[in-house]
Amino acid sequence: MTDRYAVIGNPVSHSQSPFIHNEFAKANGEDIRYEKLFAEVGRFEEVVRAFIAQGGKGLNVTLPFKGNACRMSTELTDRARAAEAVNTLTFTEDGRILGDNTDGVGIVRDIVDNLDVPIVGKQVLILGAGGAVRGVLGPILAEKPASVTIANRTLIKAESLAHHFADHGSVSAVGYEDLRGKHFDLVINATSTSLNNDLPPIPPGIFTARTLAYDMVYSKGLTPFLKRAQAENAGMLADGLGMLVEQAAESYRIWRGRQPETRKVTNMLREVLA
Ligand code: NAP
Repeated sequence: MTDRYAVIGNPVSHSQSPFIHNEFAKANGEDIRYEKLFAEVGRFEEVVRAFIAQGGKGLNVTLPFKGNACRMSTELTDRARAAEAVNTLTFTEDGRILGDNTDGVGIVRDIVDNLDVPIVGKQVLILGAGGAVRGVLGPILAEKPASVTIANRTLIKAESLAHHFADHGSVSAVGYEDLRGKHFDLVINATSTSLNNDLPPIPPGIFTARTLAYDMVYSKGLTPFLKRAQAENAGMLADGLGMLVEQAAESYRIWRGRQPETRKVTNMLREVLA
């Protein structure tokens, strides 16, 4: 029987996950079925249980259900436990539900391997303190940057994250105004502002000719954040398409035991989005 997987979310219609996983399967000569699963808010667990009953093997989880998926898991990996959020569920024959979070490994592989920018020893700035930051902070700190600064509109959320990950490395929280006069080697926009064609309120001067400006959101052209970085002569610009494909590749590896090739799929997806 063909193994079944899906991405579950609300909304989910925009998801590129079926395209990515079907390309991984094709390249590996594997027969899988990967679909989109919509769940009403409040009915996540019910929809997941029905999928398991129909023989589903695994799910990718997107907004707003990463916390629900964490609570539904019977076992969590260390990185999912630290993130308190799950984006990959695996259902075992004996009824266990394994929860993992692959967002962090996704962004680290994209930055370190694909873009060839080591994080070790760098001054890192993360803009935003939502679910995505919770998922990526542990793996970024594991790369041993000199420091990670989290800036967020709602300061208390940044402070809470900095406190939560204090044992993982040098991490601090600030408001956007506190960034005035500072500059960084790596600036990651993990706010959702690009989705509204906007950018977070960063003061001028945080980018240098050595800075990688990275937007977790991907888009056809440059996002407003990347345009600003370009105008301030940041050394390198990247959007989150590579992260999207790398986090999917890690899910695929968890489910299928094989590390898929990502570069070709990222290039194909870039063409699809153009
Ligand atoms: P989230 O939990 O909703 O958090 C949104 C963040 O954006 C919060 O920190 C929020 O600040 C900030 N924000 C929103 N509007 C703002 C504004 N006008 N000015 C300043 N800050 C603003 O979302 P998330 O799950 O963390 O995701 C963040 C983004 O990353 C999303 O756009 C998502 O699509 C993207 N993402 C991409 C990938 C990938 O694979 N490429 C993976 C995961 C997420 P407050 O706390 O002050 O509200």
